[in-house]
Amino acid sequence: MKRRELILGAGAAGIAATSKLKAQTKKTFKWKMVTTWPPNFPGLGTGAIRMAKSIEKASAGRIKIKIFGAGELVPAFEVFDYVSSGGAEMGHGAAYYWRGKTEATQIFTALPFGLNAMEMNGWLYYGGGLELYRELYDTFNLRPFPCGNSGCQMGGWFKKEINSVADLKGLKMRIPGFGGEVLRRNGGTPVAMPGGEIFTALQTGTIDAAEWIGPYNDLTFGMHKVAKNYYYPGWHEGGPTLECIVNKDAYSELPEDLKAIVDIAASATNDTMLAEFMARNAFALQQIKAMEDIKISPFPKDVMRAFKKSTQEIINEIARRDERFAKVYKSYSDYKNTVEQWTKISEYALLKNRYE
Ligand code: CA
Repeated sequence: MKRRELILGAGAAGIAATSKLKAQTKKTFKWKMVTTWPPNFPGLGTGAIRMAKSIEKASAGRIKIKIFGAGELVPAFEVFDYVSSGGAEMGHGAAYYWRGKTEATQIFTALPFGLNAMEMNGWLYYGGGLELYRELYDTFNLRPFPCGNSGCQMGGWFKKEINSVADLKGLKMRIPGFGGEVLRRNGGTPVAMPGGEIFTALQTGTIDAAEWIGPYNDLTFGMHKVAKNYYYPGWHEGGPTLECIVNKDAYSELPEDLKAIVDIAASATNDTMLAEFMARNAFALQQIKAMEDIKISPFPKDVMRAFKKSTQEIINEIARRDERFAKVYKSYSDYKNTVEQWTKISEYALLKNRYE
């Protein structure tokens, strides 16, 4: 009798578990993804689209994601709030766009003269960065994922040559976040605007200079048609991490296997986007180099020195007034001090020897 009850009990539990699994595997989720990128924008936008498609495919259609470019559902700079409030379940953009919410967000994208893409990934995945990222976004009902990296960017397109810090005086430049503050300290006026507005602003003279990404995307925007001086390096964005944000309630409704699919798709996108930028930037640079009216130059040394000095001053000021920034920055800078000792005798030494 006892044995029979046991078998029946186990059978019932088994049936219950199977039907629960069946119900879960039948349930489909219709998500919306809003992005800060122009619709179908090469690299950033298409990377986000690729991620959404791979989630649909890997989940056999149990998660369907409808994608909206900037302005199609909400403007670029409203993505964070919209996903936070549940208007869309998912978003793709860059954390430093949200520095108005809390200053620490910018550290998860890039700090001037900071970590490169490889080093950022090391910090985020194995150096405590991701835990801090999740902790910070938790207060906004969001789960963030590192989701792409453009690699080192370019310094931007300038209508006039920059030969010294004095040439920055009165310069109106599209440069978001931290880099913009550095420019301001050195006499310029930073302007924040989404990518889609840059070309017209530069063409009409609303701005005198603009940084966007690198050769691949800059060429697509036609920046070379409206400014002729192209400066490097992207001192302000040496390896900016892009992000995918998921509304926490939407994420918690997913069964474990679908959560895993979202997690894996985001981390795969983090890798493939960097690979795409590396190759396509190189191909596009060849095209730009072939244009006779474009001058590609390094920033003058005194400009870089001045920018570096301002960067540290700004970091210290924010850290003094903002506890959350101070906490994240401590983790970032402790890691940076450690990792750069390795970078110096590995990547840096290799590249130095390659060109000397
Ligand atoms: Ca940029």
